[in-house]
Amino acid sequence: MSEQVICIGCGVTIQTEDEKKIGYAPPSALERDPIICQRCFRLKHYNEVQDVSLTDDDFLNILNGIGQADGLVVKIVDIFDFNGSWLPGLHRFVGKKDVLLVGNKVDLLPKSVKHEKVTRWMKQAARELGLQPRDVFLVSANKGYGIKEVMAAIDEYRNGKDVYVVGCTNVGKSTFINRIIKEATGKGNVITTSYFPGTTLDMIEIPLDDGSALYDTPGIINHHQMAHFVDKKDLKIITPKKEIKPKVYQLNEQQTLFFGGLARLDYVQGGRRPFVCYMSNELFIHRTKREHADELYEKHLGELLQPPRKSYCEQLPPLVAHHFTLKDPKTDIVFSGLGWVTCHEPGAHVIAYAPKGVGVMLRKSLI
Ligand code: GDP
Repeated sequence: MSEQVICIGCGVTIQTEDEKKIGYAPPSALERDPIICQRCFRLKHYNEVQDVSLTDDDFLNILNGIGQADGLVVKIVDIFDFNGSWLPGLHRFVGKKDVLLVGNKVDLLPKSVKHEKVTRWMKQAARELGLQPRDVFLVSANKGYGIKEVMAAIDEYRNGKDVYVVGCTNVGKSTFINRIIKEATGKGNVITTSYFPGTTLDMIEIPLDDGSALYDTPGIINHHQMAHFVDKKDLKIITPKKEIKPKVYQLNEQQTLFFGGLARLDYVQGGRRPFVCYMSNELFIHRTKREHADELYEKHLGELLQPPRKSYCEQLPPLVAHHFTLKDPKTDIVFSGLGWVTCHEPGAHVIAYAPKGVGVMLRKSLI
């Protein structure tokens, strides 16, 4: 059996097979001394963190480590996929530690949306999910919006202690940390410190000026997100890049909306009413009569109804029906990673379809 090689930066076991997974180093790096993983290499030489993903068990280990350490936890979620990017187990590990909750990608929400309303919504949703954050922020890591405020809060709440940044893959954690590094260090050199055997948490350490550190944990893959069911080109279509322009459909009973071929909403009963769709501007929405919907899907998936493109149709799991009767005055029907549809007035009966494995849920309206 070959000997295990450990990264001197973060303590992870080095592997040379999968670039996306933790511990990756190109084979040529093994000839260098000391050996560091690609993630630590990039931080050291380019002041840049790169996201890598973990298995669920590895992530539990990391959470356990954070649970035992003393410091501030900064949890990042994607505001476009709040529930899908939540990390449900975290609150059990943080104990009495302070948590700052950061909703990233706020640039995607329509400009008319009041940020105070969204942060209030986030606080309530967090409480319902078992987490009591000390404070809640909205940022755009891409655009730099809100970063200074979060940095000031981090400094205030960490009280001279370490900071642990956690989030699932694709929430923009790397973009966020890279912003912080740039804001905080200017051109200064960021180096990872040496790993002490036995203490590894597979986290990389970004030194703060008072001797404490900010730790970047690898992201966990969230298996319920639509992103895992489509190929890269289609992912580009369903991932919004700019401010979302909501599309309003006045639906009669027994009408159906198709979101490409990836999801479907049947309006069964409740009188004529508006449905407001918050999804990528590039995603094609098709309205039809419910009685024709099955046949249309069968005949036109991959053509009229795409994504998925024709060549990827076979890989898409079958659509599964979720029945809901809406009870709140304003409810979002959420398709994890694809967006949501807001329905006004209680009483509607709808059936939401998504590929088997993709999360579908109701929530009190975000906007
Ligand atoms: P990580 O996997 O959590 O480290 O996420 P990345 O930093 O690699 O970002 C994942 C994707 O989200 C990339 O396509 C980013 O361009 C995008 N992203 C990151 N921050 C923002 C943001 O503030 N707004 C928008 N619209 N996209 C963002």
